[in-house]
Amino acid sequence: MPRQHKKAKLDLGAKQSKSAPDNEAETTPETSPLLQEATETQILTPQNEGLPVQVIFRRLHVSGFKGVPSEAEIRQVFRPFGHIETITLRSNRLAYVQFELLDAAQLAIEQLNSVVAEEGKLAVERPDNALYLEPAIKRMIQESKQWNRIYIASVDPDKTEADLRSVFSACGTIRSCQLIRGSNPENIEGYAFMEYDSDESTCAAIASMNNAIFGKFNLRVGHAITRPSTAIASSSEMPVLFHAALADGAMAATEGRDLSPIEIISQNAVRTKFPELKFWGYDSNVPLVLHNDGHSVKLSVDGEKSNSVPYITGGSLDGRYKFLQLHFHWGCDAEGSEHTVDGAKFAAEMHIVHQNQVFDCLQEAKNHRNGLAVVAVMLKVQETENAILRPVLQGCHLFKGHSKDLPVPSPLELFLPDPETLNCFFTYFGSLTTPPYNEVVTWIILKEPVGISLKQLETFRTLQGVDGQAVLQNCSSCKNLNNQEVFSSF
Ligand SMILES: [Zn+2]
Repeated sequence: MPRQHKKAKLDLGAKQSKSAPDNEAETTPETSPLLQEATETQILTPQNEGLPVQVIFRRLHVSGFKGVPSEAEIRQVFRPFGHIETITLRSNRLAYVQFELLDAAQLAIEQLNSVVAEEGKLAVERPDNALYLEPAIKRMIQESKQWNRIYIASVDPDKTEADLRSVFSACGTIRSCQLIRGSNPENIEGYAFMEYDSDESTCAAIASMNNAIFGKFNLRVGHAITRPSTAIASSSEMPVLFHAALADGAMAATEGRDLSPIEIISQNAVRTKFPELKFWGYDSNVPLVLHNDGHSVKLSVDGEKSNSVPYITGGSLDGRYKFLQLHFHWGCDAEGSEHTVDGAKFAAEMHIVHQNQVFDCLQEAKNHRNGLAVVAVMLKVQETENAILRPVLQGCHLFKGHSKDLPVPSPLELFLPDPETLNCFFTYFGSLTTPPYNEVVTWIILKEPVGISLKQLETFRTLQGVDGQAVLQNCSSCKNLNNQEVFSSF
């Protein structure tokens, strides 16, 4: 018998009933359109309201404690499954455990819930109000079977990738193995992703290696449900991406990073019910300043003259994100947007950058995954001029590094498409589109574009750049490095 991973002394009570009193959500029956029924009855509780979906995926709701567990005790139970980001004690007998990886959360549900629940004890589930995401999870699990890829948790820090390979090669031919070591004292165990060349080997590895002793710990092994990074999965895309990264001076490892911009394929987007995306203060006149930073023309609120700054809430965002600036990306032809939707580029793309208000400054926000929210609005060529862009385009005549006030304060909503359409958007987690590509951006890409004339597009290309030359284009190419899950609200 393999030695068990050090067990916590938890006094576990009987498994509580699955439905909390505030839970009105139900999983979607197979027959109904994806998510529809669940979303219509979904009620958000304060604990989860507005949390980005990618966080909800990795969060577990744990109940069934008989006594009052300490954070350390909970950590001991969950740490064999992967790195824990946070543990939140909600009440005496309820806790949220948030893992760094979705694979870890899934493994904990599968193994901890079934194993311990058989004894009538712990209940480990996704939060009640995240049940509307279940179809997306199921689809990921279904899809993941084609990859022959396993997730291995609780790897002894003294063991190497070669050690792992040598043990796991007994189950079949290993295509790739990637060991990630734990670094902080709370997460010293490493974890690994391994890819076999066949389904039989994958299943054999899970069956024989799960709970097997390996060095100081018992391994936990399950199907990896997140998609493999392109570094492992694809041979065709990688060189291109690698060179693009080099050209941008971003030498940092790009493997598995959530980079932006990406190609959005609408039929692959997971339809999700979000809280209403709201634009606060977008209807009031604010004093605006134009600035040429040598890369784009920027519009920001004159902080000295304004006592209120517009902000956004809802959608896939957690909390308030205040308006910082908006700027534009264009290309040397009429295909200058950064994101593409269903393979198509738009003429240009406007980025309305917002900063999470919990952080003191932009610099601080750039160090946190929930630091920024960018609302992207596509610009589509139309015959007539877009009058709203006229004052902005005046900014294209500014020398680089220069600023000027807009003559008349204006409401920011003028830059948005029809208010009726603002709740139709794609959203995903990604990065800044310029080096060093901080992975701190929740992207919200509005479905409805706004217009721009060809002549106006031309004016963008006259902006004076850092080298004194005109900025003919400033759009980055798509990354899709990590195949981030994209969600749609419509
Ligand atoms: Zn931008």
